[in-house]
Amino acid sequence: MSPYLRMVQWLPDWFRIWIQSQVLPALGLQPQIIATSLFRGIFDSFLFMMLATGLLAGGRYYLEGQYALPSSIQETVIKWAPVADHIAREADIPREVPLVLWFKENSMQARNPENCTGIIGAYDLVRSGEHPCFTPGPISDLEVSEQLAIAAVEFKVRCPEITYFTQDPETIKRCYFAYNAGTGAANRLNADESAYVMNNYNENYANMVYSDIELGTVQVTALGAWPTHLAFQSLVVGQMDVEERPLSLSILNISTQVYDLGTQVWHEWLGETAGMNEIMALPNGRSLDSTTCLGEPHKLGRFSLRPRLNPVSESPILTQDLHGCSYSLPGLDISSNNRSAVLQAPMPGEVTTYTDQWYNSTIRIENDEWIVWLLHPRSYFVEEGSVTRGQAVGVMGAVGYATGPHVHYTLYDKVSEVFVDPAAFLP
Ligand SMILES: [Zn+2]
Repeated sequence: MSPYLRMVQWLPDWFRIWIQSQVLPALGLQPQIIATSLFRGIFDSFLFMMLATGLLAGGRYYLEGQYALPSSIQETVIKWAPVADHIAREADIPREVPLVLWFKENSMQARNPENCTGIIGAYDLVRSGEHPCFTPGPISDLEVSEQLAIAAVEFKVRCPEITYFTQDPETIKRCYFAYNAGTGAANRLNADESAYVMNNYNENYANMVYSDIELGTVQVTALGAWPTHLAFQSLVVGQMDVEERPLSLSILNISTQVYDLGTQVWHEWLGETAGMNEIMALPNGRSLDSTTCLGEPHKLGRFSLRPRLNPVSESPILTQDLHGCSYSLPGLDISSNNRSAVLQAPMPGEVTTYTDQWYNSTIRIENDEWIVWLLHPRSYFVEEGSVTRGQAVGVMGAVGYATGPHVHYTLYDKVSEVFVDPAAFLP
């Protein structure tokens, strides 16, 4: 650890927060992004404090181990929790909701049912013609996340008063009811009487009778949306425990994020540049035969414009070889031992930053011959404008379709008009 890092580590919290709120914005770093991180930290702390004080409804069920979920469902919930959380934050609904809807409508299977309504039971969207039929059959993870996002937006439309932070059971129950039966019914009727919402919440709600235009009158055995919500909340909070993030640590999450950013600034001020040209191991005998969407890069052209740095500036590790032809952004996944490694521009060019349709934060750099995309950064150092090769452009993250911090690195050749294998352009 460098002396500077040690120095930052011992700074009092108020000073770090002062840097965060005053210094970083003044340096042109994105206050909004930093605020979002701060907010997330606060929310996690908030969850833990509620849990500790017994205020969080799910906490009780977590502690009592009620609503045992099948292990396949538990695995799916844990796998999808970060994606669902991101979708929920964007739509401004509680973080459990997208997964609860998936569970209620389709038992969390990655397969569209025969009735066209997708894994999220979008009867009204499909019937009104707002959305074409969700083609029955198995679907990719990408389509799962797309549908969860559609459901999240629809949920918010039907229940505008709900937010990411809503904890009030009555509001949440009414919103699930509105999603299932429409806003009219939710305003007229009591959510407590809905089997969709309340079934098997406790012995008073055991195997309720459910009436539906499609199904007629049936006795429900599946867990209602509200107890499912509680069970998922328990599971996700429990998972945070598993990750060894006790209460104090979670509160510290705020200062860690500030700390990370502060560290980057320190590096910048001191002119220290990370790794620059670190070598990354690539698998032997890579076969790109199955990769159909790549072409041959042009050979002539300006050397000064060629990408030739690893975008991950510090101890880069290849975590997934070429993938992404199916979603038109073929690339490599590169991670690092340092979960908040600085991302550097592999080549000079013009930067643009945006969130794409899959909620991936994106840094795009373009020059006369090449375009690179760096997906999932936690923050941007350069929102737009020119950058030189090796300039720090952001911090590696897991924003969007990602389960851990990494960068999805895609390279396009404007001269040959093809995507190319980025591995050929790494040091
Ligand atoms: Zn990837």
